[in-house]
Order: sequence, then structure tokens, then C-alpha cells
Amino acid sequence: MIDPECLNNITEVLNGSRKIVINTHTNPDGDAVGSSLALYFMLKKLGHQVDVVIANSIPSFYSWMPDADKIIYFGTNTEQARKLIDEAEVIFCLDYNAIHRSGSLKDSLKKSNAVFILIDHHQEPELDSFNYHIWNTLRSSTSELVFKLFDSMEVVKLIDKDIASCLFTGIMTDTGSFSYSVSNSETFSIVATLIDLGLDAADVHSKVYNSMTESRLRLMGFAINDRLQIFEKLQTAIIALSKQDLLDYNYQIGDTEGIVNLPLAIENIRLSVLITEKKDHIHLSLRSKGSFSVNEFARKYLNGGGHINAAGGKTYTTIQQTIDDIIRILPEFDTQIVY
Ligand code: 5GP
Ligand code: MN
Repeated sequence: MIDPECLNNITEVLNGSRKIVINTHTNPDGDAVGSSLALYFMLKKLGHQVDVVIANSIPSFYSWMPDADKIIYFGTNTEQARKLIDEAEVIFCLDYNAIHRSGSLKDSLKKSNAVFILIDHHQEPELDSFNYHIWNTLRSSTSELVFKLFDSMEVVKLIDKDIASCLFTGIMTDTGSFSYSVSNSETFSIVATLIDLGLDAADVHSKVYNSMTESRLRLMGFAINDRLQIFEKLQTAIIALSKQDLLDYNYQIGDTEGIVNLPLAIENIRLSVLITEKKDHIHLSLRSKGSFSVNEFARKYLNGGGHINAAGGKTYTTIQQTIDDIIRILPEFDTQIVY
């Protein structure tokens, strides 16, 4: 259950019809989009004026989601996005732990006088930036926390097929289709409830995972075949994709999602790093098995963070320098790996 005092505060804030903006992190994933749209539909049902405002666009494999076409992007619709944020009385921040994770929206958000409500499951949130927070790192996803909020508000009966599909997308994608972050049985009872409320789980799974372009699948093959490096003693796999590699495979936003998980299939690999070269920085995506905390590693050395087994970060050097730095730092960071 949500903390009763927090629930009271949120209920009070939502008393009457409010102008509400829902924001989530830049480069949104399934949980970011799913939790945002689910909350959007529910708040609209409750009589509020609601918009989802995000820094940049969502991957094509989430475009089937109901009202995904109504999301306002700061990158392409800057004036409208600014206006909505300026006029908002309440701003929900979903699936991130610090305002700067909103990307290009951060300055507009920082200027806002709205009531800020955080709903998140990442490590070490900057709680002072928000008036109220529903925060729990033990939950599989922000979508699960949004369901818990609905449950506490006694509005689960208002969940329809659209809302159920959005929540399930978040839970499914953040658990790697129920392969990690699934130690809490309640995750499964929530999914059972969603099925009772109209969810077609197989259909959602297929829309998300069986909708690749040929070039995306070939990029995956290339990444594994030509760009995977194994550092056996460090139990580490690194895949680095240059700007040119991405161009060669007609890269579209979201095309590299999932690649970083693949090397963890190798026995004894405990850390997998995907390095992608962007316009003005190097992007890192990290995954681990067991107790190796990529959150700590990314926080300490890679200007990022996330969860224990999934995190992201950035560097401002080159691909090669980034690889060299990781390889140099790893032995001093992790005492659990036997070198
Ligand atoms: P991904 O590798 O899928 O981009 O991110 C993995 C996880 O780490 C996600 O939950 C994401 O929200 C989080 N994450 C990614 N980049 C950053 C970052 O720069 N800072 C923080 N704090 N979290 C991040
Ligand atoms: Mn999430």
C-alpha cells in the first residue's frame, strides 16, 4: 500500500479538476511510456486535464499504445510543451529519480510552481526535488507502482483494456518478460488482475517484441558478430557501436534496445556494457548478473545510475578511451570478481 499520509496529500492535490502534466525520462522505455499513459488515462477518467510531455520521441515498437500519438515532445513541439508545463498545477514525474533525467525539459520543469509528485523505483532519488513521492526500489517497475496508487485510490475497477495494456507493457519490459525483478509475488497478482480487467498479454508481448524492422535485427546480429569483445578475466562483455555502424544499419530510435542483455547469456559473464557513439557524447548501457551493482559503477565512474542490475551513463571521450577506462577501473571497483 502507498503510505497513507502521502496518499492523503496526493488525494488533496487532485481534489477538483486540475491541469496535470505527466513527464518521464528522456529516451523513454516501455515502463516510462506505459506508466505515463496508464496514469494519463486514469486521471482523465477522474476529470482532470492531462498531457504527457516528454523530451524526445518513443521507439516505434511502442507507437501502438493507446494515445501514444497524443504525447507532446519538447524536441518537436517546444512551445506547446513549455506552455503546458508553465500552466500545470500538478506535475507527475515518472520512472526517473532526478529532474535532469527529463532531458531538454529540465529547465522548464525547474521554473514551474506546480506540485511535483514522483513515482519511481530507481536507486537514490533526489527526493528534495519533489513535494510527494511514491518510491520503492523493490518494485519491478514504475507501472507496478502506478497500479499500487490506483489500488490505494480505490480506482482499480476503472482500469480498462487500454490502461491494462499500458501497465502490462511497463511490467513486462522492465522485468525482461518476467525473467528478473520478479521475486515479489504481487507482480504476478497485479498481472492476473490486469488479465481479469481485459488485458491480452500475448498480444501486447507480440506488439512490442515481434515488430522489428529487418535492419534492427541485422544490427543485433552485427553487434554480436562483429562488435562483441569478451574480457574473460573481468567476466565482462563490451559491445561498441560507432556512429557509422548505426548509419550503416539505418538506426532508428530504440533499435539498440535489448542488445546489452544478450551477452549475459554467456556463462560466467557478469557484466555487459553497450557503448553507442552519439552526436556529442558516448552513451553507456550496463547490465549485470548477481551482486555486481551497475548502479554504483555508473554513478561513480560514468555520470549515470539506475538499478543494481541495469543502469546507464555517459562519457565525453572516445569509444576506445571509454573501453580502456572501464577495463582499468573494473579491478579496483569490484572485489567480488576473481581475477
Ligand atoms: P538503459 O540501459 O535501458 O538505457 O537504462 C537502464 C536503466 O538505467 C533504466 O532504468 C534507466 O532509467 C536507468 N538510466 C539510464 N541512464 C541513466 C542515467 O544517466 N542516470 C540514471 N540515474 N539512470 C539512468
Ligand atoms: Mn522503470
